[in-house]
Amino acid sequence: MNDFMTQANTALDTPELRTLADAGVIERVDGVEFSQLTTFHLGGAPRAAVRVTTGEAAAAVVRALDAAGVELLIVGGGSNLLVTDEPLDVVAVIMGDDHLEIDASTGVLRAGAGAIWDEVVAASIDAGLGGLECLSGIPGSAGATPVQNVGAYGAEIADVLTRVQLLDRSTGAVEWVPASALDLAYRYSNLKFTARGVVLAVEFQLRTDGLSAPLRFGQLAGEPGQRREPAAVREEVLGLRRSKGMVHDPDDHDTWSAGSFFTNPVVPETLADEITQVVAAEFGADAAAGMPRFPVAAKAVATSDAGADAENTADTETLVKLSAAWLIDRAGFAKGYPGDDAPARLSTKHTLALTNRGAARAADVVTLARDVRAGVEKKFGVQLEPEPLWIGLEI
Ligand SMILES: Cc1cc2nc3c(=O)[nH]c(=O)nc-3n(C[C@H](O)[C@H](O)[C@H](O)COP(=O)(O)OP(=O)(O)OC[C@H]3O[C@@H](n4cnc5c(N)ncnc54)[C@H](O)[C@@H]3O)c2cc1C
Repeated sequence: MNDFMTQANTALDTPELRTLADAGVIERVDGVEFSQLTTFHLGGAPRAAVRVTTGEAAAAVVRALDAAGVELLIVGGGSNLLVTDEPLDVVAVIMGDDHLEIDASTGVLRAGAGAIWDEVVAASIDAGLGGLECLSGIPGSAGATPVQNVGAYGAEIADVLTRVQLLDRSTGAVEWVPASALDLAYRYSNLKFTARGVVLAVEFQLRTDGLSAPLRFGQLAGEPGQRREPAAVREEVLGLRRSKGMVHDPDDHDTWSAGSFFTNPVVPETLADEITQVVAAEFGADAAAGMPRFPVAAKAVATSDAGADAENTADTETLVKLSAAWLIDRAGFAKGYPGDDAPARLSTKHTLALTNRGAARAADVVTLARDVRAGVEKKFGVQLEPEPLWIGLEI
């Protein structure tokens, strides 16, 4: 047993944790590897793993490990994690509290952090509530949804999240904090890439009039802002996502990924214009006219990791969000790149997903990520930022 394990075992062996273990809400998970805990199906073994099935148990375990200075990693569904193949000096704390309360008359839904997100969405729709339909099919846990303000098809968690029950890791206190305290922005919250807190439960205010939220994504809305039956929207979203390999399926290597690997870059308008000129010169005026570009509110960018470079310019320049998938494609990386023999490839359904074809090592994904990022930077002068959390690896 190495020093780390001795320290971890000591930290986890307190009367409080023993009582919770006896009550069955804390369970040691032996011999597990991150390859079994992540949708990339990649990663070596944590030195220890603990599954917690109540918020109280999660808080107690994290407090004990923090007090002893033992490194830990909160793990939900593992769908936004890329972990080294080497054994890691870390305790994986697996969130397993899947309680769900729905008040169909008020539209308030509360879920434990370990509830499977898509099951929460399905239950909300079965209860006649609207608001989560566009977020159908996103893998992972309910507790992780605020961490990067998950979003899809014109909707994001920030639209409906009212508050989260948060363990503040600096004080050990647990309290409900309003969504406004999380600085939610495009694929960002102040919980992402930090050890600030652990989400123990989430609360949403949903719609009780039997209709979806106003739809913003063209293929779902006949006209912008249209509202439809949530169940029908959910089915369409799931269909769209499956066609792009964006619903995790253990039998489909196109989905052994972390979904979109890079965030959409947010750049100053001047750079967006330069890129448009490069596109026009190389691919013609029609391609340049069709390049996706969307104006972004400066505030959203200033708080976003994706907009770190743009932050300094937020006061002086208009900012524009570009499509990472479009840039990757135009930089010459086709679906399935680099080809059939490679253990890690771009998805054959979507250029923005880096995938493990079954035999990849984490290092293969890193090599592919570097390759794609360098190609886009060389062609367009934009550095793509990875969306998942990297553990024990660097791009
Ligand atoms: C096929 C596929 C499609 C995807 N599509 C989308 C999409 O459309 N939109 C989108 O936004 N994302 C998408 N993702 C990314 C991913 O599903 C989301 O980010 C999801 O919310 C991650 O949840 P998780 O439980 O798997 O988190 P994990 O991967 O387990 O963890 C991710 C990060 O959050 C932290 N974390 C997890 N739970 C908590 C908690 N309770 N409290 C504090 N920190 C926590 C972890 O420590 C880690 O840093 C996709 C992923 C895949 C594989």
